[in-house]
Amino acid sequence: MVVYETKERVSTPIGEHLQSRRGLTLVLHHQDLTAMETLHLERCANCNEWLSTFTTLARRAGFPIAYTIPPRPVRGVRRVSARPVFGPPTNHAESMT
Ligand SMILES: [Zn+2]
Repeated sequence: MVVYETKERVSTPIGEHLQSRRGLTLVLHHQDLTAMETLHLERCANCNEWLSTFTTLARRAGFPIAYTIPPRPVRGVRRVSARPVFGPPTNHAESMT
């Protein structure tokens, strides 16, 4: 029998953005950030920003938050090469010709 590892069960590598689904899992299942995710959040202003906003809203809605988001990095100081947060890039220009 082959056991497949799904994306959700694999901790996020440092070079990859946190998926919005991961944020939801953190809140709903009262999980903590992995070391890799914390490292990513220390370097990626984009993920840090949306997770901070998401966490604030979740906390206001009454969800207990088990994780601590590291301080937001200064934008533009350090770039993290990573794939887009919301799915693979689409090439609309190609289909228009
Ligand atoms: Zn990111």
